[in-house]
Amino acid sequence: MAVFKPENVEDFYEIGEVLGSGHFGQVRQVSERTSGTCWAAKFLKIRKTAGSRLGVERSSVEKEVQILHAVQHPNIVTLKDVFESRAEVVLILELVSGGELFDFIAEKENLLESEAIEFMEQILEGLGFMHSKNIAHFDLKPENIMLSDKVSPHPNIKLIDFGLAHHFHQGEEYRSTSGTPQYIAPEVINCDPLSTAADMWSIGVITYILLSGLSPFQDDTNEGTLRNIIAMNYEFDEQCFSMTSSMAKDFIQKLLVKDPNERMTAEECLLHPWIKPITRKQVAKRNRSSINMKNFKKFNARRKWKMSYNMVWMCNRLVQLQLLKGSSDPDPLQRQCESDAEDTESKPASLLRRRLSSSS
Ligand code: ATP
Repeated sequence: MAVFKPENVEDFYEIGEVLGSGHFGQVRQVSERTSGTCWAAKFLKIRKTAGSRLGVERSSVEKEVQILHAVQHPNIVTLKDVFESRAEVVLILELVSGGELFDFIAEKENLLESEAIEFMEQILEGLGFMHSKNIAHFDLKPENIMLSDKVSPHPNIKLIDFGLAHHFHQGEEYRSTSGTPQYIAPEVINCDPLSTAADMWSIGVITYILLSGLSPFQDDTNEGTLRNIIAMNYEFDEQCFSMTSSMAKDFIQKLLVKDPNERMTAEECLLHPWIKPITRKQVAKRNRSSINMKNFKKFNARRKWKMSYNMVWMCNRLVQLQLLKGSSDPDPLQRQCESDAEDTESKPASLLRRRLSSSS
């Protein structure tokens, strides 16, 4: 059982700049007072009453912590410490300072498939390790695939955000309808029993986007996106995939499979010829094919714009809520932003609950 330290986190760490925001709080850079070492602190507001929709349940944080302890791997963010006060839990995590993989790629002029595969391989290594421990991430998307640093020419992948992750126990049937519409598997939408295969569907979607700059199931509305997923309504647009190898398409096709039992596993992906070519011809094909950079840059710019738009929307909403309550809190946005705003999305509620930034 993980220890949640009752001490004040600020006695041990100096709190620094905001690195990012999630549904239940902020992530800030912190510096350890004794050594000066930098870490990332994830502040999670704890739900005060069972009926409240504000904050996260303590049991969910316990689950995230237990899973982080179980998945120690070079391609997965490391948990160092956990602090707890009356209102929040603070996870002290390895500082992942290289930003999101998609932003790193979008800055390049061009990228060969073989170069993109170096990153895919690391994602699959991290995922394969989790899956070997019967742990599924359940929220794989570009925002949760980061790079270790900005300086190295070959930075390491780090998977983050285990807030929806689940550890399967022998014979257990687990269902959940949480996730981000663009990336969720059909069995999540259908409320069927889940397995680690749901992550592999998300890998198929992420690979599709990475190669073409198109999102395979995205529609103007979340409902439309979910309908497209259920109907398996996707194709390889000839123009957008004109620079893509047939091996890459085969890789995606073996992941975007409706039946989770028929989908490639992470282990099988690592042996697919697109990732691990056997013949010289296969090697040459990967070196001749490249990602559709023009389209990818457009996709990423739109994604970032939506993320900031939704953040401003959430912050405005919070200000309105505070004004309505007549709050005298002098700094309501300081550590709260998204976390304190009530969800306003409509059906299907929990599917859309997680992160507006990733919605259509
Ligand atoms: P969500 O609402 O997407 O589930 P969350 O509340 O679970 O989010 P995270 O996704 O873990 O929070 O973190 C939010 C953001 O903070 C990330 O998108 C990332 O930008 C940043 N972040 C998280 N962990 C780290 C880290 N270890 N190092 C650097 N930045 C981080």
